[in-house]
This record gives sequence, structure tokens and C-alpha cells, in this order.
Amino acid sequence: MLQTCSFLQQNGILYRENHPIRSHTAYKVGGNAKLAVFPDSLPQFHSVIGWCRSRKLPFFLIGGGANIIVSDDGLPGVTIFTEQLNRLFLKNGKIIAQCGVSMESLALFAAGHGISGFEFLYDIPGSVGGALVMNAGNNDGEMKNITCFVQAAAATNRLVTLNQHQCKFSYRTSRFKKEKLVVLQAAFNASNRKSGKIIRSEMNRIKNQRRRKFPIEFPNGGSVFKRPPGGYAGRLIETAGCGGLRVGDAQVSEKHRGFIINTGNATAADIRGLIALVQKRVKETHGILLEREQIFLPEDMEK
Ligand SMILES: Cc1cc2nc3c(=O)[nH]c(=O)nc-3n(C[C@H](O)[C@H](O)[C@H](O)COP(=O)(O)OP(=O)(O)OC[C@H]3O[C@@H](n4cnc5c(N)ncnc54)[C@H](O)[C@@H]3O)c2cc1C
Repeated sequence: MLQTCSFLQQNGILYRENHPIRSHTAYKVGGNAKLAVFPDSLPQFHSVIGWCRSRKLPFFLIGGGANIIVSDDGLPGVTIFTEQLNRLFLKNGKIIAQCGVSMESLALFAAGHGISGFEFLYDIPGSVGGALVMNAGNNDGEMKNITCFVQAAAATNRLVTLNQHQCKFSYRTSRFKKEKLVVLQAAFNASNRKSGKIIRSEMNRIKNQRRRKFPIEFPNGGSVFKRPPGGYAGRLIETAGCGGLRVGDAQVSEKHRGFIINTGNATAADIRGLIALVQKRVKETHGILLEREQIFLPEDMEK
């Protein structure tokens, strides 16, 4: 730990020991990061990843924290928060966004420049990095549709630039997730021009439609499960009698059965326990194992 901190100090990189993670997550649960690091430039970010890899320190990435359930025991090793990597600009006819740019900022930036195609992500919480990893999307679009290139750090820490095809996007996953590549920044298609007024009205339509369906009054992490082939997780959960089911302060939302809400002081263990219970009941009722979309840290994603 001391050696790691001296590397961070020498390079002027902001860090905190035993830093609470819960306020960085949509569910508002989880323990502390043993060492939390907040790079504020891509060279800093890349050097931290290289440092962790060369020292074989386990490391974790947190963007907007909208799709993760961090253990109550917190995270060992190094947790890198990308929130300060938030530069966003136009270059050579593309929108360039660093990995920590929020989806909302990206959508608003595109609308402000009369660029269409980004309306669908206006109401998706989280960052560009997390959205590329998850190929975030909804009925109105997905990251795959707007991505031209992604710059990422490979397992060797070499920087690679991948085109859209090489990113291997598919439903709620990507090469970044499967091969544990770290996203630094991305270039998005800016060629689809429309009036800002039309784009904003579409963004607001999508947002209002979603807000009516989602239990936004409570901390939640969006859809817990992936859509099973030929159906909706929410429907299976409802017909398995899981609406309103609770473990501690975690509850299957009555408003949207595909969501779990933190009704007060839920722990990560409550949410994880409820997920397992729902999976069990749905399996017993329908013979289908619901696959989790949300990521358990540390187990699912140690880089
Ligand atoms: C109310 C609500 C509604 C939602 N609606 C949708 C929706 O409509 N569609 C949808 O797809 N999702 C939705 N989600 C889920 C979530 O918004 C998306 O999955 C989002 O893309 C997660 O981004 P993030 O930055 O928060 O990622 P995080 O939760 O921070 O991280 C997700 C994963 O990506 C990894 N990661 C983060 N940054 C990087 C990086 N730079 N390089 C490599 N790995 C990285 C993390 O380690 C983690 O494994 C919703 C969530 C909420 C709370």
C-alpha cells in the first residue's frame, strides 16, 4: 500500500484510502474501496492501470456506478473512479468523449450541435466507459449504433484503437467486458444532422416515457436481469409471484418488476439475496434461469 501511494503521490494523482463507494453507486450500497484513485487525465489513467498491472494489484473501474452491486465488504486492491475523465469535444467530424463523460452530457452535447442518434441515451444513467462495456441501450437505440472507434488499454497495457466491428457489441455486452479491456475514450458518429429542437423533443419523449415506468423515487440499478429469449424478465418475475418480494430493505419494485429498489437501508447482501431468490422462484415456476445484467463487484469484474 505504501509503495502504491508513493507512486500516486509522485505522479500527482488524487487518491483516498478506505473511501466509501456507496455514494458513487445507483443502489447506494457497498463497502469501502481500500484505495480509491481519481485520475484527471488520460495519461494519468493509463499510468495507474499500467502500475496496477505491473504490480499485479487487482483493480476495479467505476464509471457512473449505475450497473454495479459492490459487496458490503468493499473492494480490495485499487478502485479507479473515472468521473474526472470528462472531456467532450468535436474533432474531424466525430464527437470525442472520454470514458467518464455522462450519458446525459453526451446526449445534450449532441443535441446542442444538431447531431441526432444520441437521443436514446439521454435518460440512461452512467458514463461512456460503462455504457460501451455494457453496450447500453433500449428500444430506441444502443451504443453499437453510434460508436465509430474506441481507444482502450489491452491486458498488456498497450493502447489499441478498435473500430465498431472490432468492439464486438451484442446485447448488453461487448469485447471490453469479455476481454477486460479498459476504455479510455471513444469517437462517435456526428454525421446524422437534425434540428436541435426536433432532437430535444425526441429526448424528452423518451425520458418522459421511461420516467413513467421506472421506480425513480427509490435508489435502484435499472433492469436487474437481461431480457430472456422471447420474453421480458418483468413478466416472468410477476407471474412467479415475486412482485413486492423483499429481503431486508431490498424489494422487487411493484411499479416495474424487473427492478429492485433500496427502500431505505438495504445492504448489498440484501440485494444479492433477493436476486438469488427471484432467480430460484422464476426457475421453479417457468424453468428459466434469469441471467443477471447487473455486475457484482468484486467477483464479476476484477481487471
Ligand atoms: C434508473 C436506471 C435506468 C437504467 N436504464 C438502462 C437502460 O435503459 N439501458 C441500459 O443498457 N442500461 C440501463 N441502466 C444501467 C446502466 O445505466 C448502464 O449499464 C450504464 O451503461 C452503466 O454505466 P456506468 O458508467 O454507470 O457503469 P458502472 O456501473 O460504473 O460499471 C459497469 C461496468 O463497466 C465497467 N467499467 C466502467 N467504466 C469502465 C471503463 N472506462 N473501462 C472498462 N470498464 C469500465 C465497470 O467496472 C463495471 O464492470 C439503467 C440504470 C439505472 C439506475
